[in-house]
Amino acid sequence: MTDLQTVVREIAAEMAARHDRGAVANYIPELARVDAGSFGMVVIDAEGKVHAAGDADTPFSIQSISKVFTLTLALGMVGDRLWRRVGREPSGNPFNSIVQLERECGVPRNPFINAGAIAVTDLILSGHQPREALGEILRFLQFLARDQTIYVDRAVAESEKRTGFRNIALANYMKSFSVIDNPVDFTLGVYFHHCAIAMSCRQLATAGRYLAHAGRNPDSGLSVVSPERARRINALMLTCGHYDGSGEFAYRVGLPGKSGVGGGILAVAPGKASIAVWSPGLDANGNSHLGRVALEMLAKRMGWSIFGTDDA
Ligand code: GLU
Repeated sequence: MTDLQTVVREIAAEMAARHDRGAVANYIPELARVDAGSFGMVVIDAEGKVHAAGDADTPFSIQSISKVFTLTLALGMVGDRLWRRVGREPSGNPFNSIVQLERECGVPRNPFINAGAIAVTDLILSGHQPREALGEILRFLQFLARDQTIYVDRAVAESEKRTGFRNIALANYMKSFSVIDNPVDFTLGVYFHHCAIAMSCRQLATAGRYLAHAGRNPDSGLSVVSPERARRINALMLTCGHYDGSGEFAYRVGLPGKSGVGGGILAVAPGKASIAVWSPGLDANGNSHLGRVALEMLAKRMGWSIFGTDDA
């Protein structure tokens, strides 16, 4: 039988030695300061055993990975009404594209591109003050990860607020189509701050366990979402979780996954494991380069691709 801990250690050692690390995101100035040499990986299996290697406990900016959790929260709050605001199709466009929005009357393609996530954030915000909405999101992550120390990195949030002209444009554009209900500043404030939540691979892999186990946290036995909802969130992660690199990720890795420009990826092997990987260097689509390579190796060696194994 393949020993998971050995596989995780071997992958981390191989990644540490690689020179093709991609480029750290620099459009958010605070993210440009991160060391491109970092690499962390945590796999939590169905029994709850944690397999960790590298910088597994270093908090990093989860950025767009937060969108999986805001989608989960928003679906819990407004149910399928959410799909009147946001589509469920892959965009085939960069994460911050504005072109498609015009053609589609301000309705974002899916909840994981920036426009879609801003629209989802707006739904969570409705009826609350921005501070309350952000607190709700942060507490949800602390609950899922069973760790109260998870925090919002204010410096990253401020940095993005100062330079987030694209997102400001997207939000204003959607507002003109009444896809955003709240003041644009409020919605964006909550969005920038949840993207700036800092978590380690260990915390992230723990938080993602409900997606790997039909909506239930197997430790507590508590249900986070219904099995149907977990399956659907996973489907969206597979088809939309890596922007215009989603097809390539499905082709190479074959697991539902969500990336963030902080270099993290949360991936799910349904019924088997929740996985978090972090390497800050990005590829041309804004997805972690070595994070994807590491997940490809893991899925192949463990035979975890949802599309089948390589065995004859
Ligand atoms: N906060 C980032 C942005 O809105 C998230 C992008 C990402 O992680 O892909 O540009």
